[in-house]
Order: sequence, then structure tokens, then C-alpha cells
Amino acid sequence: MTTQVRTCPMCAQLMWLKEDQYERLDEDTIRGKCPQCGSMVRFKLVSQGENAAGPKMGH
Ligand SMILES: [Zn+2]
Repeated sequence: MTTQVRTCPMCAQLMWLKEDQYERLDEDTIRGKCPQCGSMVRFKLVSQGENAAGPKMGH
């Protein structure tokens, strides 16, 4: 249950991406579609701390 909040590099609007609105490309990269301009944008997931090792979200 992680909502990613990012600024779109294309239109500079804040994007709120719920878990089902973005996909995970690898351990620390996500890709989502900007609801404002429709661009597919990629982001690096920034760990909140050193203890953020290992994936918590399994299937
Ligand atoms: Zn945008």
C-alpha cells in the first residue's frame, strides 16, 4: 500500500500514483503514467532509510 508522489518531469504537476497505477521495473525503478499529460515517466524509488533492504511487497 504505497502511494508514490512524484513531480512529473514533463508537465511539472504532482502525480499521485497508487499501487495499481504504476509498475515496478526493477528493485528501485518504477514507471507510471502521468494523469495530467499522459506521459510515461520513470522514477527511482528512494529508500527511506538504510533498513529498506529487501522487497517487502510480494505477491
Ligand atoms: Zn505530466
